[in-house]
Amino acid sequence: MRKEETPAEAKRAILDYCLGKGALAAGVADLEAIERIAPAGHRPSDLMPRVRSVISLGVGGQTQGAWTVPAKAMAYFGSTETRAYAIAYGCAFFIESRFGARSIYCPPDLDNESGPRVPLQSLKLHAELAGLGARSLAGDILLHPEFGYMYFASVFTELELPPDAPMAENPCPHVSCVALFRRTGQTPCMKFCPVQCLSGDIDEHGRQAEMHYDMAACAEMSEQYEALPRMLDQAIAAGDAAEREAILTDLDNSMAWYKMSVGSGGLLAQCFECMRVCPIAIGAPGADPIRRAALNHRTAPEPEGSSGGSSEGS
Ligand code: SF4
Ligand code: SF4
Repeated sequence: MRKEETPAEAKRAILDYCLGKGALAAGVADLEAIERIAPAGHRPSDLMPRVRSVISLGVGGQTQGAWTVPAKAMAYFGSTETRAYAIAYGCAFFIESRFGARSIYCPPDLDNESGPRVPLQSLKLHAELAGLGARSLAGDILLHPEFGYMYFASVFTELELPPDAPMAENPCPHVSCVALFRRTGQTPCMKFCPVQCLSGDIDEHGRQAEMHYDMAACAEMSEQYEALPRMLDQAIAAGDAAEREAILTDLDNSMAWYKMSVGSGGLLAQCFECMRVCPIAIGAPGADPIRRAALNHRTAPEPEGSSGGSSEGS
């Protein structure tokens, strides 16, 4: 670290870098808490033995128009996560060059030893502990009261930085969701999930009491929007090797291999119906670029020691 910079000043510079590159919110997660909560093999120290800090950042998701497209298109419309990864990459280089501390962009990818649904690290846990979102009744998707639904990326570094705290208040359930739940026993996300994989309870204070999420049902529903399983299904059913090769290298299908090789497009889908009807995901004051511009977000960052991560509009 530069001699003239304290850990708090270094943190400020790093979070400002993330916000300046387009993150809506950024913060530092409590490393001890992640190490305690994450399962063995998926703790930051499993990936980077000398890690001292985990930085999380979030970027905006869909435009308002994207919420009007059919589910098969929605699966791809909101994929702004590559922007989050680019900022995280740059942030890791920024820390190394400015503070001389080894840093990595945390890979968002799956753990190839643990099957197709287990990530190397939970970026969601990092973001939650850094104060960038709270778990919703829609399968624990993180929601932010100001920015709604975001995509997250993480950076690990050997530089020690003071951590932020998780959000003190959970914006989910929204007051309108509580009203619907009182009348019908379901919130909008529960009601409009096509496979009814969400359920739960809300207490007398209007707060989450229980949340149930059938991940297998959600995955089965969502994966119908993935081109890859269908392509492989057709290839497996081919009558002979020549037909199989023709299917796999068909002009249209080869586009999927190309997209995979450049990391373009969603490879794990969501059908998004739960978020399409969520008043926070679509209606938060800074939920899309037009609203954010109108609100003139880009004011001074929060003072050091305040709860939760810093955000563009805080
Ligand atoms: S993504 Fe679709 S299937 Fe999964 S919980 Fe949301 S609405 Fe249900
Ligand atoms: S619709 Fe959104 S705010 Fe309402 S309960 Fe579901 S996730 Fe929470």
